[in-house]
Amino acid sequence: MAEQFDLVILGSGSTAFAAALTAQELGKTAVMTEARIVGGTCVNRGCLPSKNLIEAARLLHDARHPRYPGLTPCEMAVDVQTLVAQKDEVIHDYRANKYASLVGGQIHLEHGRVQFVDAHTLEAGGTRLVGQHILIATGSRPVIPDIDGLQDVPYLTSDLLTSDEPVELKDLPRSLLIMGGGYIALELGQMFHRFGTEVTILERSAQLLAHGYEPEVGLTLAEIFADEGIRVLTHATVAQVRQDREEVVASARVRRQAQEFRAERILIATGRRPNTDTIAIERAGISVNAQGEVEVDAFLRTNVSHIFAAGDVIGRETGSQMATPVGSRDGGIAAHNALAGGPLRRVDHRVIPRVIFTDPQAAVVGLTEEAAVAAGHRCWCNTLPMSLVPRAGAICNTQGFVKMVADANTHEVLGVFMVGESAGEVIHEAAMALHFRARLQDFIDLLHVYPTMAEALKLAALSRFKDPRKLSCCAE
Ligand SMILES: Cc1cc2nc3c(=O)[nH]c(=O)nc-3n(C[C@H](O)[C@H](O)[C@H](O)COP(=O)(O)OP(=O)(O)OC[C@H]3O[C@@H](n4cnc5c(N)ncnc54)[C@H](O)[C@@H]3O)c2cc1C
Repeated sequence: MAEQFDLVILGSGSTAFAAALTAQELGKTAVMTEARIVGGTCVNRGCLPSKNLIEAARLLHDARHPRYPGLTPCEMAVDVQTLVAQKDEVIHDYRANKYASLVGGQIHLEHGRVQFVDAHTLEAGGTRLVGQHILIATGSRPVIPDIDGLQDVPYLTSDLLTSDEPVELKDLPRSLLIMGGGYIALELGQMFHRFGTEVTILERSAQLLAHGYEPEVGLTLAEIFADEGIRVLTHATVAQVRQDREEVVASARVRRQAQEFRAERILIATGRRPNTDTIAIERAGISVNAQGEVEVDAFLRTNVSHIFAAGDVIGRETGSQMATPVGSRDGGIAAHNALAGGPLRRVDHRVIPRVIFTDPQAAVVGLTEEAAVAAGHRCWCNTLPMSLVPRAGAICNTQGFVKMVADANTHEVLGVFMVGESAGEVIHEAAMALHFRARLQDFIDLLHVYPTMAEALKLAALSRFKDPRKLSCCAE
């Protein structure tokens, strides 16, 4: 016998939970389905565990490298098993409080791999689920490149941060090769290095963070990583991988020169792809694009009128990005549009702030200079070093820069890119400004607390009219 629901949701990540909670608020029934662990990527193996361990690695690094003369470096002992155990405890608590405890009443959960049977019916773990409406929220998984020999070596992926699954990494490798130069490669690469692993990053493109970021972001982080002792190679294409006793050997071409790299482990961080190829999506007649992302309109409807999709599984459709807050917002919108019976809500992907949790952090929002020009703007842009920001000098941490992209005619601020201390907090001021289509003068008129890193934004805006090197203390 099939069970009937107002909304059947494929997946149980942040996107799925947002949809299930909205369904509950509307007095409807919803069922989520999960093949792995309830809660999905963010809580179990993404945002939460990575930020937990990255902060521990930062404490270790700061103790070894105090920024102030007069503070003596010291070596903290690292107990990896205890660190991993506390990370698992943080995940367990968070998962229990923010996910598992919400299941019940009108929100159901079915364990097992889910697949379409037809456009209204799904099967998960031997149970048939019939939905008046359906939401695809199956997220994404690491892309494993087709490299000779890779299938024969025990490679790591970003799943290494998981808990309660065999792929969890519980020991520190002595040395690590990382394939890829995107945000996951950088966050995990710096973390492992700081815990004591010898890290080499191999990036195929001409620079780190090659897509969607101002070039200065990747170049600055590459310099900071190199100064810290992390080996970063760009123009590096791995052609073959093999195991040689205790080591993985990667044969690569680096700027057309053949080179071999050896390490105890290899981590594949070459991007993520949507989980649309494992759910028999064709049985429901749903269209996916060339990247395998579910095609949706601005109301998150697929080409099949009662089926919606949101979160990582839509990739860059409608200008979306793979990030937890985007899925959490859109899951609610999709459920509303499916179930509320009122006016439809439209997604808004114009302003999506992003942070890379390296140290210093990189934070971005809005259009790059190149994208702004392509969109028809005549641009004014300026890049200022963090050394001009009073707080950066005061706390002896002047690494990084801020870049502002604005329309040269209207002065509307179109994009902000920052590498620096607390960039992940500062970027919210810029995001709010872009949300309200603020102009350079709005950043200047706002009194900023002195001395804060957010003054970087005011200084960048001021630099359109004055030389920020010739200002007194409060950026006026
Ligand atoms: C290492 C790492 C760090 C990250 N850090 C951040 C960060 O700091 N900030 C941020 O915003 N984002 C971060 N992300 C991205 C973020 O985790 C994702 O954007 C977000 O979790 C996507 O949510 P989702 O609900 O769309 O998909 P998911 O959370 O992936 O949920 C989909 C669920 O569907 C399940 N599923 C898939 N196929 C099936 C099937 N056939 N049957 C049953 N179940 C299925 C999966 O097991 C999964 O649990 C990070 C990701 C990684 C990997």
